[in-house]
Amino acid sequence: MPLTTDLLIQAFYLGAAVLFILALKWISAPTTAQRGVHAGEIGMLLAICGTLLHHGIIDYKWIAIGLVLGSIIGVPLGRVQMTAVPQRTALSHAFGALCVTLVGTAEYFLPSSDISQTLMAVLAIEVILGSLTFTGSLMAAGKLQEVLPQRPIVYRGQNLVNFLMMAAAVGIAASLILNPAQPVLFLLMIAIALIFGVALIIPIGGADMPTVISLLNSYAGLSAAAMGFVLDSKLLIIAGALDGSSGFILSVIMSKAMNRSFTNVLFGAFGQVQAGAAAQEEERTVRSATPEEAAAILGSANKVVIVPGYGMAVAQAQHKVRELYDALSKRGVNVHFAIHPVAGRMPGHMNVLLAEADIPYDKLLDMEDVNGDFPQTDVALIIGANDVTNPAARTDTTSPIYGMPILDVDKSRTVMVIKRSMSPGFAGIDNPLYYDNKTLMLFGDAKSFTGSIVREFSGGGHH
Ligand code: NDP
Repeated sequence: MPLTTDLLIQAFYLGAAVLFILALKWISAPTTAQRGVHAGEIGMLLAICGTLLHHGIIDYKWIAIGLVLGSIIGVPLGRVQMTAVPQRTALSHAFGALCVTLVGTAEYFLPSSDISQTLMAVLAIEVILGSLTFTGSLMAAGKLQEVLPQRPIVYRGQNLVNFLMMAAAVGIAASLILNPAQPVLFLLMIAIALIFGVALIIPIGGADMPTVISLLNSYAGLSAAAMGFVLDSKLLIIAGALDGSSGFILSVIMSKAMNRSFTNVLFGAFGQVQAGAAAQEEERTVRSATPEEAAAILGSANKVVIVPGYGMAVAQAQHKVRELYDALSKRGVNVHFAIHPVAGRMPGHMNVLLAEADIPYDKLLDMEDVNGDFPQTDVALIIGANDVTNPAARTDTTSPIYGMPILDVDKSRTVMVIKRSMSPGFAGIDNPLYYDNKTLMLFGDAKSFTGSIVREFSGGGHH
C-alpha cells in the first residue's frame, strides 16, 4: 500500500479518536453539549473515511449496499420522539452488539484465520459480551416500548440458573482457549450467551431499564474494544474503551440517583408493585384549584420553584413554561427550576427540554443544590412530575421507591401539581403528596393548564 494512504488513514483515526474524547467532555455540560454532538459526528465521519481507505477492501459494492441499508434503518430511528430515546438507544446497542458478534463469528470461521490462544480468548470475550448485549438490549427496548411486560418476571432459583448459564459460557470459553478448533462449542457458547441476555433482563423492572441500558452500553463498548484487538484496530479499541467506561460511569450515576446498588438493580427485581396497596386505600380528600386561583397564588409569591417531569415532556409544555417563567420574573417573583436526575425518561431529559425553550441554565438547580431551598419556598409548582416528588420514598419503608432521593417539595409552603388525573407515574404507585393539605391539584394537560395561567397574567383570562 502506498505510504501516503497509510499515513492518511492514521491521521483520520487520530483525528477521530481526539474528537471522540472531546465530544465526551463537551456533552457533559449544557452550554457545550451541541458542540460535543457535532464533534462526535465529525469524529465518526473521519473514522468511516479512514476505514474506507483500508487496503483490505477489494470491492466497494457490499459496503455501498450496507451504507444504503443502514441509512434506511437509521434515518427514521433518528427521528423518534424524545420520550422514546431510551428504547431507541437500546436498539442501537442491540445492532452494534449483533455486528460485533457477527464479525467475531466470521473471524473464527474464516478459513484464512489462524487462531492463537490469545486471539481465542479475546474472541470469546467479544462474542459472549456481544451476544448477551444483543438479546439483552432487545429485551430492554421491548420493555421500554411496552411491547413486553414492564413487570419483572421472577421465579425461584433464578439467580442460580443465571449464574450457571454464565458459568457454562465461561467454561466453554476456557475449553476453546485450550483448543480453539471446536466449532460446535463455539456456536454453543454464543447460543448460551444469547439466552443469558434474555434471562438477565427479564427479572428487571421497567423503572430500572435506563440504568440497565447504560450498563448494556458499557458491555457493547467493551465487546467493540475486544473486536478492536481481534481486528488490530486501535481506533476501535479507543472508541470501545470510551464507550465502555462512559456507559459504566453513567449507570453508576443513575443507580446513585435512585439510591440503588448495582447488585440491587441487577438482582433485586425492582418494580414489583406493592401488593394490596390500592386495596387499603381509604377515602382521602384532594383539593384542586383553577388556573385563576393558581395565578393569584403564584403572582403573590416571592420564591417559586418549578419541578418539571415526564408529563411536561409528553405535553411539550416547555415553551409555555418559559412564558410562565417570563411572566413571573417580570412581576419580580424569584423563579428556579428543580431538576431531579431521573425526571422524565432519560438522563438529562428535562435539561434538554428547558434548554430548547431558552430557559437560562443558571436557573436550573440540581437536586442536591435545591433541596435545602424548599423550606424557604412559597410555591413548589410541579408540572407533570410524580415519582420524583413522592414523599413515600422518604417515609414509607414498604414503598418500592423507598430510599430513592426525591425533591423535597412537601417542605415548601404551598405545593401545586399540574397533571391530568390522580393516575400514578412510572413506578405505578400512589403519591401521598396529593392528599397533603398544603397541596393544590391543578387538573389538566401540562401545556394547556400552564397556558391558562400565563393568560391570567397577561390579562386575557376568563373571569
Ligand atoms: P412520572 O412518570 O413519575 O410521572 C409523570 C406524571 O405526568 C404522571 O403521573 C402523569 O399523570 C403526568 N402526565 C402525563 N402526561 C401529562 C400531560 N399531558 N399533562 C400533564 N401531566 C401529564 O414522572 P417523573 O418525571 O416524576 O419521574 C420519572 C420516572 O420515570 C421515575 O420513576 C424514574 O425512575 C423513571 N424513569 C426515568 C428515566 C430517566 O432516565 N430519567 C428513564 C425511565 C424511567 P396524569 O396521567 O394524571 O396526567
